[in-house]
Amino acid sequence: MNTQNADLHCHSTVSDGTLSPEVLAARAHAQGVRLWALTDHDEISGQARAASAAAALGLDYLTGVEISVSFLHATVHIVGLGFDPDNAALNEGLRHTRGGRTRRAHDMAADLARVGIKGAFEGALKYAGNPDLISRTHFARHMVETGVCKDTYEVFRKYLTEGKPGYVEHRWASLKEAVHWITAAGGVAIIAHPARYGFKPTEEYALLTEFIGHGGRGIEVITGSHSVAEAKIYTQTALEFDLLASCGSDFHSPEESRIELGALPRLPASLTPVWSVLSERIQRGAAAPAAA
Ligand code: AMP
Ligand code: MN
Ligand code: MN
Ligand code: MN
Repeated sequence: MNTQNADLHCHSTVSDGTLSPEVLAARAHAQGVRLWALTDHDEISGQARAASAAAALGLDYLTGVEISVSFLHATVHIVGLGFDPDNAALNEGLRHTRGGRTRRAHDMAADLARVGIKGAFEGALKYAGNPDLISRTHFARHMVETGVCKDTYEVFRKYLTEGKPGYVEHRWASLKEAVHWITAAGGVAIIAHPARYGFKPTEEYALLTEFIGHGGRGIEVITGSHSVAEAKIYTQTALEFDLLASCGSDFHSPEESRIELGALPRLPASLTPVWSVLSERIQRGAAAPAAA
C-alpha cells in the first residue's frame, strides 16, 4: 500500500500555481501519479474541476486544501484531505481566512514602495488567477518579471519574509479552527512540511500535541520542501506521535518548482499512509487501466 505513487499536495491557478486544475490532473497522470489531491491555499473552488478531470483520466482523487494558520510566531500550513467540499462550516471558515488577503497585499505593496518598488499590488494582481487569493508568490513573480530579482527564490531571500521589505504580519485561522473545519467535514488534518517552520524542539512539541489534541491525525513526511535528512527526522516523529504519513510534491509551476508531480520517493514502509484511513473518501478514476 505504501508503494503507490501518491501526490497529495500541489497548487493550481485557483491559488498560487500556474497551471489549471485540468492541466495539473493530466500532468500528474502523465507523471505516473495514481492517487492525487489538489490542495490550493485557503480555497476549494477548484475541487470539482480537479475531481472530474481526474475521473476522466482514471486517476484516483482525494479532495484537498492547504489552510494558513497562525501558531506562535509562525504561519503553519495544515493540509486537509478527503473532506466533503460542500460542508458549510468549512466553506465559511475558508472564506473568512481568505478575507484579509487583499488588504494585506495593499500593505505589502506600500511597504515595497518604501524601498523604491512601485506598483507591486497591480503587478501581483495580474498574476493572480483568483483575485480573492493574492499571495506572496504572485508578488514574487511580478518582481522577477520586472527585474527586481532573478528568480522567486531570490525574492523570498531578500523580500516578503519576516524582517524584510514587503513583509506584513497577518492573522490567519487558529490551529483549532483549521483542524475542526477539516475533521467536521469528514476529512483528515495533516501538518504540512513540518521542517519549514524553524521551530525550536519545545515549539514543535507544542504544535504536535495541540494539533493532536484538536483531532489532527497526519503529518507530511515526504514533501518537496524536505531534504532527505528531514524526511528521516519526520519519519521518526510520525512513529513517535502515532501520526498517519502523507506525501506530496507541493508543485506550483514547471518553471519554479524543484520537484515534479509524482517525482518524490515513496513513503517509508514503517509508516501508515494517510490514504489507508480514507479508502471510502477516494473518488475512483472511472477509466482506470489494469495494473501493469
Ligand atoms: P502567502 O500564503 O501569501 O503567505 O504565500 C506563501 C507562499 O509563498 C507559499 O505557499 C509558497 O508558495 C511561496 N513561497 C516560496 N518560497 C517561500 C519562502 N521562502 N517563504 C515563504 N513562502 C514562500
Ligand atoms: Mn504556495
Ligand atoms: Mn505550504
Ligand atoms: Mn503548498
